[in-house]
Amino acid sequence: MSIALSSKRGAPNTATNRAVRNLARPDEWAIDMGLRVDGHNFTLEKGEYVRQVIRDYSPEIVIPKAAQMRFTVTMLVRALHAVSVRGWNVLYLLPLKTGAVPFVQGRIDPIIESNPSLAQEFKAVDNRLHKQSLKKFNLYIRGTNIKNELQEVPVDFQVWDERDRMVEENLGDARHRMDGSHIKKLIMLSTPTVEGHGIYSDDAWDISDQHRWEIPCPGCNRFQSLNWNDKALDYNNLKVGSDRSDCVLECPWCQHVFSDEERPFLNALGRWTPYNPDGEVRGYHINQFNSPTQTLSEIMRDYFKGLREVKYMRAFWNQSMGLPYTAVGDRFTVELLDKCRERYEVGGIPSSYLQIGIDVGTHIHAWCWTRFNNIRRLWNVKLFQNFDQLDRWLSSLPQWVGVIDAHPEKSKSRELALKYHGRLYMGFEQDRDQQGEIAHFGSVKYQEAPEVKIDRTLAFDTVIGEFLNGRARLPYSARELGEHLPRKDYNGVYHHMIQQARVEEENARGIIIARWKRNRNPDHWHHACMFATIAGYTTPPLQIPGGFSSAMNKNVISGAGS
Ligand SMILES: [Zn+2]
Repeated sequence: MSIALSSKRGAPNTATNRAVRNLARPDEWAIDMGLRVDGHNFTLEKGEYVRQVIRDYSPEIVIPKAAQMRFTVTMLVRALHAVSVRGWNVLYLLPLKTGAVPFVQGRIDPIIESNPSLAQEFKAVDNRLHKQSLKKFNLYIRGTNIKNELQEVPVDFQVWDERDRMVEENLGDARHRMDGSHIKKLIMLSTPTVEGHGIYSDDAWDISDQHRWEIPCPGCNRFQSLNWNDKALDYNNLKVGSDRSDCVLECPWCQHVFSDEERPFLNALGRWTPYNPDGEVRGYHINQFNSPTQTLSEIMRDYFKGLREVKYMRAFWNQSMGLPYTAVGDRFTVELLDKCRERYEVGGIPSSYLQIGIDVGTHIHAWCWTRFNNIRRLWNVKLFQNFDQLDRWLSSLPQWVGVIDAHPEKSKSRELALKYHGRLYMGFEQDRDQQGEIAHFGSVKYQEAPEVKIDRTLAFDTVIGEFLNGRARLPYSARELGEHLPRKDYNGVYHHMIQQARVEEENARGIIIARWKRNRNPDHWHHACMFATIAGYTTPPLQIPGGFSSAMNKNVISGAGS
């Protein structure tokens, strides 16, 4: 109120007025400073949807972003403003440390250098991944892959840029950097990947208030969020033609056509509307139909290429629409598991030797395949409280071969692998580009626990591949197997199987690799199933009746079970 009054009294107070506005509004500060971002003057023109986002001081903001919609530059301006104007310590987090230096050189430094006083402000500390203001507030740029570098810096405000590609296990550490702050603001943004993962996981967009950008139709004035069959909306704007130049965006009510020339100007009249007003965190979503720069034909290019090649289809949904996309084979679904069911019962007399996979966690999960005519069938699943129960069960089984998770608890797994020597292998999951084969079985040596090294990407790809090809079958009661889940229409086995998703990401050397990534839900049955499948790559030693020479144990049944 006093600001509004004082502004009428003339020049000196106009400066005060402006200073106050610049304190609260990073966009006006950037425009006043004449900052240049990515080679252009910072402006909101045709990208007015940025205004509310850059001024939003909600404790947590989630932004699934379509590509080229100015969100990263918005966050960079916001981060610099926070350090230099508000006096906050800021952590700007990227997926990998290797990407951080080029990011600073290519995108942050040019903004700082575009204004002499800002350049002066950050002159003192000339470290590429650490900027410090004259008043000693800090901007740290970090990658999520170096855990100990996330543990040392206390901050007030964090930006997580490309959330879906971050190292999930270290994000908790990053968040704790704000424990000592009274401010505690977090903004996460990302090009989406698959449903249920990262920015679209059940602790991100799903629990947000889901603001969507709406523009008014020049024909009938109805506000609408330009979309293509978005499940959250009950109308559709895109009419798809036979090729990319033959598509049209139109108003579903009055059929007004939103032309390429018109669309960027409609952003000046737009508004954000929450579609889930009770959400726990703030969320903003916008797609490229509101792009200030792209024509519809450019936006639709990947879609039409994607009809022939899935990577373009994924790019279209993730980067153009800002939506998750799950290609066949990227993730188990309830539908896929249902399709693999057959009319047979669990347990009974196995039709071949058993292939057992054992995942070790708080509980022990065991998955048992039988294999006949190259088809695997789930014979049974077993849940144990401890290793003694597991041991007793294993000793009761006929012919079997197994792989046990070596990770959380090595010594107990080793004991069992020694006891069931030559039948039970300790499984070590390894990440891509360390090996070229799905499983490498070490030799079985006297008094040593045998090991198998597993390429986890190839292993999980193989597992889903067998379900897709009809080579893996489940009993009709599969939905009822596993831990009891009263609030779902299936139990633990299904629930664990659908959690991991196949995500492509850059490794430390800049090569795109696929990884099966977990979210925060348990996925033990999926691991047990994978270990059981790996067990099927070897054959059990011949079961010798008592009194036979122990040397005979080295024999194997060739082609057993097939
Ligand atoms: Zn209309």
